[in-house]
Amino acid sequence: MPLLRNYVGGHWIETETRFDDINPVDGSVVAQVCEAGQAVVDKAVSAAKAALAAGWGTTTVDARARALRQIADGIERRFDAFVAAEIADTGKDATHARTIDIPRAIANFRAFADQIATAHGDCFQSTTPDGLGALNYTINKPLGVVAVISPWNLPLLLLTWKVAPALACGNAVIAKPSEETPYSATLLAEVIDEIGLPPGVFNLVHGFGPDSAGGFLSTHAGVDAVTFTGASATGSAIMRGAAQTVKPISFELGGKNASLIFADADFDEAVAGTLRSVFSNCGQVCLCTERVYVERPIFEKFVHAFKLRAEQIRVGSPYEQGVGMGPLISKEHRAKVLSYFDLAVAEGARVVTGGSVPVFGDARDQGCFVSPTIWTGLSADARCMQEEIFGPVCHIAPFDTEEDAVTAANNTQYGLATALWTTDLKRAHRLAPRMESGIVWVNTWFLRDLRTPFGGVKLSGIGREGGRHSLAFYSEPTNICIKL
Ligand code: NAD
Repeated sequence: MPLLRNYVGGHWIETETRFDDINPVDGSVVAQVCEAGQAVVDKAVSAAKAALAAGWGTTTVDARARALRQIADGIERRFDAFVAAEIADTGKDATHARTIDIPRAIANFRAFADQIATAHGDCFQSTTPDGLGALNYTINKPLGVVAVISPWNLPLLLLTWKVAPALACGNAVIAKPSEETPYSATLLAEVIDEIGLPPGVFNLVHGFGPDSAGGFLSTHAGVDAVTFTGASATGSAIMRGAAQTVKPISFELGGKNASLIFADADFDEAVAGTLRSVFSNCGQVCLCTERVYVERPIFEKFVHAFKLRAEQIRVGSPYEQGVGMGPLISKEHRAKVLSYFDLAVAEGARVVTGGSVPVFGDARDQGCFVSPTIWTGLSADARCMQEEIFGPVCHIAPFDTEEDAVTAANNTQYGLATALWTTDLKRAHRLAPRMESGIVWVNTWFLRDLRTPFGGVKLSGIGREGGRHSLAFYSEPTNICIKL
């Protein structure tokens, strides 16, 4: 049985307190994980500070960019091991792991190597009363010790989305992956160890949230900034903890995303795209659509086509051929999703398809599966229309006018992503800016350019990451003003 250890100051640290890493396909134990207590987190903070004092923050941009590329190459060399780890921890379908999770994690390191290599500061020639002027220029320094706390749904992708720019900017990092998915982060620490990054520049601690590694990190006086991806309620708890020492925070939180499908949309593309946006990764992507609004003339046709396609998704083990959807992450999460299945019916939903647990008659019955589920008929203020469910489920409602569609899409406390499906270019330009979300996709979904700002409004987050937005968060600018 593999033992997943903490990586601190260039050393692998075992602890006596251990927890199981569970495979949600059949409930089997993938690995034992060494939980980091306060002492290990303290050690990680000291190691990170020592790495900064030893000069990591003032290494040349070239050296940091080179290190990021070496990490990317190291992940690529062990591609199959990373894919296997991600699948074992999450049960996600192999295609997703092979084409999205691991390649995009590699791309994160390469993208931020490019970003830092071409980054520049501001420079202003200023006028002064004596007519001689002044020169202002800005240099960017690292923030210091950055805690990266990440979720389980896209484990390596989301962890590296923050680790890569934080390292690029010269910070020392302490990463805490989700307790549900510690495996790929441990492999990442192995790669970083192999390439010989100076000790303490990257540290990995395993554990849970409150009263465990996550809580100890986010409240630690020696941590200079916290960057977090996860649930909005957790963000709120971390914010309270980080407030004591006034740490900068960057939050990528939950969503209750809408897709608006107009009658002039390319129908087949809209069905296929929405199918991806609802059911990808078993609906466990913060960007997934949970509310679909369809213009009334094509409503019935859309629901019919969508039902047929959803029923064709093969649910099962990631190791089986042709499987398009794996299990949810855990028994606890499945219980939460199933409670929404019950609630939806109580709130008056018509279950178009799904709403149940598939029965396999084998070991998979010990897993965390649910069926792809579609509802209609809920009112706009139903809890199932307002709360993030984070499973393979959506509600489809009709709309009559553009104004109705905009109101419906924005009727949520969240504001992460919206998808518009229309072939009317003017309409797309008219509506996209009116969406109260950080990201608007038109005739596509989850198409990412890593230079663009990524993040949400309202309960969906604070700040933006991506390209220069990440570099801005992970650096501390100092303005230098020279009187000429
Ligand atoms: P979660 O908030 O339960 O956990 C995320 C991480 O925070 C884990 O590592 C966990 O151990 C840690 N944590 C929990 N409580 C903590 C505390 N009090 N202090 C410090 N750390 C703590 O989220 P999850 O269930 O792992 O992930 C699902 C959620 O993440 C969904 O709400 C989803 O929408 C959101 N998410 C958002 C984005 C985005 O980019 N906006 C991306 C992926 C997931």
